[in-house]
Amino acid sequence: PDRLELMGFPLDPVDLQGAANVLSTWMLETPRQPHTVVTLNPEFIVQARSDEPFARAIRAADLVTADGVGIVWATKELLGVSLPGRAPGYDLAVELMRRHGERLGVFFLGARPGVAELAAAKARESFGVKVAGVHHGYFDLADDQRVAELVRDSGAHLLLAALGAPRQETFLQYWRQVMNVPVMIGVGGTLDVLAG
Ligand code: UDP
Repeated sequence: PDRLELMGFPLDPVDLQGAANVLSTWMLETPRQPHTVVTLNPEFIVQARSDEPFARAIRAADLVTADGVGIVWATKELLGVSLPGRAPGYDLAVELMRRHGERLGVFFLGARPGVAELAAAKARESFGVKVAGVHHGYFDLADDQRVAELVRDSGAHLLLAALGAPRQETFLQYWRQVMNVPVMIGVGGTLDVLAG
C-alpha cells in the first residue's frame, strides 16, 4: 500500500501481519541489504521536530509503522485515512521471532546489563530463537563502532535495538551500512518485557 505522510513524516499503512510480511521478505530474500524500521508514536513526532538527526532517521526508515492508537487516531483525524491497524515494536519482534527465529539469527541489543541475555534466553525458550548475539544498551558514542561491528560480525537477520528513543533510531540510521542486517527495529522497552 502507498506510503502516507503524517505531519511531515512517512507512515506505511500496514497492520502487524502486513508489516511482518514485508519484513519477512527482507529477511529471507535480501539478507545482504540493510533495512530499518521505526514504530512511530506521537512523542516521536513532537521530539523529531526539534531534533534533526532523529527526523532524518525516521524519514530514512524503510518501514514506518504506527506504534499505537495515537498515530491511528491522528491519521484518521488529519488525513481522513483509516489505518488497517498498528504494529508496535514488541508485537513485531515476537511475530518475527515466531516466524523465523529458529532458522535466522536474532541480535538482542539494549537495556541494562544482563537484561538482553535474559531476554535472549526467554526468546530461545519460548520461540526456539537462534541467538546471534547480545549487548547491553549503556555504551557511549565512542563505542558505537565497536558495537555496530559486533552486530555485523554476528550475521544476524534481525536486530532488536532497545536503546530508547531517539538513540535507537539514530544509531540504526548512522550504522545501517556497517551492520548490514536485513531487518533492524527500534523496539523501546521490548527487551525488559521479554526478560520478564
Ligand atoms: N536504554 C538503553 N540505553 C540507554 C537508555 C535506555 O539501553 O542509554 C534502554 C532501557 O534500559 C530500556 C529501553 O532502552 O530497556 C527503553 O527505554 P525507555 O523506556 O526509556 O525508552 P522509550 O520509552 O523512549 O522507548
